[in-house]
Amino acid sequence: MRKLFPLFLCIFLLTGCQPQAYSSQTFAMDTLMQFTIYGRNGQEALAHASARIQALEQLFSVTRTQSETYAVNHARGEWTAVSAELYELAARTLDLCRETGGALDLTAYPAVRAWGFTTGEYQVPDGETLKELAACIDYSRVELEENRIRLPDGMELDFGATAKGYAGEVLARELREMGVECAILSLGGNVQTIGSRPTGDPWRVGVQDPEGEDYLLVLSVVDQAVVTSGGYQRFFEENGLRYWHIMDPDTAAPARSGLSSVTIVGDSGTLCDGLSTALFVMGREEAAAYWRAHPEFEAVLVSEDGSIAVTEGLEDRFVLNTGYEDRDVEVIRR
Ligand code: ADP
Ligand code: MG
Repeated sequence: MRKLFPLFLCIFLLTGCQPQAYSSQTFAMDTLMQFTIYGRNGQEALAHASARIQALEQLFSVTRTQSETYAVNHARGEWTAVSAELYELAARTLDLCRETGGALDLTAYPAVRAWGFTTGEYQVPDGETLKELAACIDYSRVELEENRIRLPDGMELDFGATAKGYAGEVLARELREMGVECAILSLGGNVQTIGSRPTGDPWRVGVQDPEGEDYLLVLSVVDQAVVTSGGYQRFFEENGLRYWHIMDPDTAAPARSGLSSVTIVGDSGTLCDGLSTALFVMGREEAAAYWRAHPEFEAVLVSEDGSIAVTEGLEDRFVLNTGYEDRDVEVIRR
């Protein structure tokens, strides 16, 4: 028996410490989501996550006629009472619009629609139409007070740039409250991690090559969100030009800043999601300046010429993928 004991202990250490994985896929917020949760209450936590994401979509969707966002957009200049959750998302998105000087603008929706990104019936609007659209994009005209929202008749808002990040953040908080210590939630281009991998090592989250199918580099992440925005995620081509779904609020046209993708790493999924869109609009230099003035996130900036820049805090937290080892990576410092 005494001889068997160490052997038994050994086997237990190898197998007993690896909690069981529970995975599920669900389609929500216009994207395929995959949740993997480890541990004893994984099944229950998965069911909660799937139900919650559907409930949040019902509040945030800009196209569903039963959603709160739809009601706000069709109130013809009147106040609309909204749930605490939509109010929180709106308030935090509006803060980011102000903080980014309007690179993020939650009233860009009419432009997104005019280009056909809401239906897939793509078209390039003429110059006059773009001018009119740009004149109606103005986050400063959105009013929030006591769980109600008002915006001028003719303006419409959408949370396409922050809703998935916010949802990841909400799910992470609620799953932690349920006792989950180890999970990875993939919400389209948004990844939310809880704790580290079951082995105790950090999660490894790939950043896609905007020009290919493969991962450009892999980030090590613990308990944080990783969110990527890129022109390659949703686009169409006409006369040899590519047009994507991230708008420059000043022109009501796809933002051409020289960047092909922006990845943000941070504790807050909402912040990461909003900033991935905003820094894409800003471009490389303005994005670096924004990071220097704001300590709460790190970033990977991939330019259209293929060059990569990472902020200082990621310097020791990434590896280039096989096949990309010879890419130059510039480190942006404070
Ligand atoms: P994805 O939805 O692909 O993850 P983003 O987080 O970058 O990408 O959000 C893009 C979505 O946000 C668009 O589909 C549109 O609905 C909306 N949007 C586009 N440009 C802006 C902008 N400058 N500010 C705020 N929202 C935007
Ligand atoms: Mg975003």
